[in-house]
Amino acid sequence: MVFPSARTGPARKAETDAATMRAPIFFMFAPRVFDGRIYFTAGKNDDIQLKMCQLVFPFKHNDRDSQSRMRPSSIIRSDDLRNENRHRLLSTLRRTGPCSPARLKGITGLSAASISTLSSQMIDQGILVSSRSPASRDRTLRGRPRSQLSLNQSAGHVVTLTLTIDRVRVQLVNYAGSVCQMQQRSLDTRALSTQQLIREICQCVDTICQLQPDLKLHHIGVAFQGATEHASGCLLWSPIIRVQNVPLGKHLHARYGVTVSVNSDSRLISEALSRSHSQRLGNTFATVLYSHGVGLGLILNGQPFVGTRSSALELGHLRFEPDGALCRCGKRGCIEAYAAGYGIARNASGQNLQANPAGRVSASEMDALVADAQAGLPSALQAFRIAGTAVGEGLVTLFTLLDPMPVALVGLNDAAFDLMRHGMESVLDAHLRNGPAAAELLHYFNHEDPFLEQGLIDNCLSCVDQLLANHNTDISITG
Ligand SMILES: [Zn+2]
Repeated sequence: MVFPSARTGPARKAETDAATMRAPIFFMFAPRVFDGRIYFTAGKNDDIQLKMCQLVFPFKHNDRDSQSRMRPSSIIRSDDLRNENRHRLLSTLRRTGPCSPARLKGITGLSAASISTLSSQMIDQGILVSSRSPASRDRTLRGRPRSQLSLNQSAGHVVTLTLTIDRVRVQLVNYAGSVCQMQQRSLDTRALSTQQLIREICQCVDTICQLQPDLKLHHIGVAFQGATEHASGCLLWSPIIRVQNVPLGKHLHARYGVTVSVNSDSRLISEALSRSHSQRLGNTFATVLYSHGVGLGLILNGQPFVGTRSSALELGHLRFEPDGALCRCGKRGCIEAYAAGYGIARNASGQNLQANPAGRVSASEMDALVADAQAGLPSALQAFRIAGTAVGEGLVTLFTLLDPMPVALVGLNDAAFDLMRHGMESVLDAHLRNGPAAAELLHYFNHEDPFLEQGLIDNCLSCVDQLLANHNTDISITG
């Protein structure tokens, strides 16, 4: 067994090539650490073929216990490692925008030679483009423009569908993230059968695809205002549709022949906030979405939480008041029955709490409720206070299970949040006696649409990055 020294760059590559040519019995060299795992490159000539593999150990920096316990956990073929490194480059460029190879080396930890090889392959495949930026001259190159790598907008497209109450919004987005086409259609979502709903959505996809002459469709992503099954893309339940268990993901995949992702709006908004406001919210935080209902998204250690089967996290349907107000889910006393727009309107107008919940509360109706409360109308003030208290109780449950964390409150305007703030913070401060003040944990963001659209686009394009990271993917294939 031979253990060459852990050289890097061309010297190591030459050593690798030489070792390959001489076909040693077995060799293992060049330990590298990425993402808390340690990799060794190893090869073996068994008279049939030369096999290359990567041994992967669980390993954390500065963790002596982990080092002493580390055992090989898996074997990754060299193809897998190449695809993983391609994905590392694509996801980095997705995050940073156009980037020089030198900066990519610093961010990804890949060698300059690897970046050169992988980027050349992906330029040839039409996934990346290389350009020279006159604005960023490198002094070491005596004023010559420095080359930059970026995602090729012509590498393909994704279709994004945002399904909310009474509306479907569809966009065609290129691989670089620019919106090429956008359409919005009014849809009486609660009046549609399963077949009608699927047919309407397919018509939207057909129409927008026909508008794009050079279409190369790789993926369809759906944002849904309700519970979804993440493995199949099924729409499980939502107050915005009358039917349940709509097999939308399965149908779109069969019809268009591309991968499909279906996610709850709360999750996608959380993902967008995780990227755009990480300094403010950290890498573990909750998102409470006030929309047609009350949704919850969770980012834990930088990763979105999903349930064992569904999008889960039905904060709005935790019980707030036993045998209380009738919720749209059919149960009584849910948080949503007090905190969603229809709950606030019902409380403010003094309607029977057991009456069937109203439909959509429009923005202008919500503005009128806010104006009543700001004018001092007791019933309106009380309705907003109860809404804040109900959400505060839900967050107490969350904090009890997972510890206190920052919370992004999304979807209302500043005035509505101000009216709910006191009820919410009172409940939380009573719970957080020895912890941070509620005001330090709560972060308010106005209307949800920009976060939802960006979260959906980013989610879809990250799926395409995974697809194109496989070096065998033929990007000329259209859906
Ligand atoms: Zn409910």
